[in-house]
Amino acid sequence: MAAAAAAADAGSDPSAALAAAAAATSTCAHCQREIPSSNIDLHSAHCARNLQKCEHCGEMVARKLMDEHFNESHAPVNCTLCKEIVTREIWDLHKSEQCPQRIVACEYCEFELPAVELHEHQDVCGNRTEFCQTCKKYVRLREWIGHEIQCHANANANANASAQTSSARIIPEREVRPPPPVRPPRPMHGAQHKRLLFTIAVTGIAVMIGSILFQREESF
Ligand SMILES: [Zn+2]
Ligand SMILES: [Zn+2]
Ligand SMILES: [Zn+2]
Ligand SMILES: [Zn+2]
Ligand SMILES: [Zn+2]
Repeated sequence: MAAAAAAADAGSDPSAALAAAAAATSTCAHCQREIPSSNIDLHSAHCARNLQKCEHCGEMVARKLMDEHFNESHAPVNCTLCKEIVTREIWDLHKSEQCPQRIVACEYCEFELPAVELHEHQDVCGNRTEFCQTCKKYVRLREWIGHEIQCHANANANANASAQTSSARIIPEREVRPPPPVRPPRPMHGAQHKRLLFTIAVTGIAVMIGSILFQREESF
């Protein structure tokens, strides 16, 4: 009687029946996933027919999308900037930090150029000077940050200290900072410079050839 009552209860309570079915699972031999036992036959047939384990990452991929998956996830990448072929594992690193042709900005003038030219450019660019309004002297751009930390921090500390010793009650006047130095418009950059030299050279050669031809014609 009790068993019949329990069965009747389960029958009348659909959520209990669902919970019981969901609790029973079987492992699919093909994809090793836990599948509800009631679905396992259907799943296994579908799984074996349509899915394939990727030999590179172990992911189950639809058989017909395997080529696409390989190209998107595992194939080496041909870097369009440096023309190098890069493995997928280091592709992100290559793009963001290692490609010699990736575009980076000069820390002094913010001009954008290939990373391989940055060192040479910054060597020249950082040697330019700007006038420091606070100290009334010219400071090299490469020394600017150090200069601000050393000279200006000390100056501020001294100003505050003397203000505090003279009268602790009076709030020291805030130092009015000069506006940030105005950067000159784009300075001559390596690439532009080379292009200009090239133009001059080509023009020079053209003039030379012209004068030689002219002389020949005259001598006849
Ligand atoms: Zn499966
Ligand atoms: Zn894969
Ligand atoms: Zn590259
Ligand atoms: Zn620069
Ligand atoms: Zn200064």
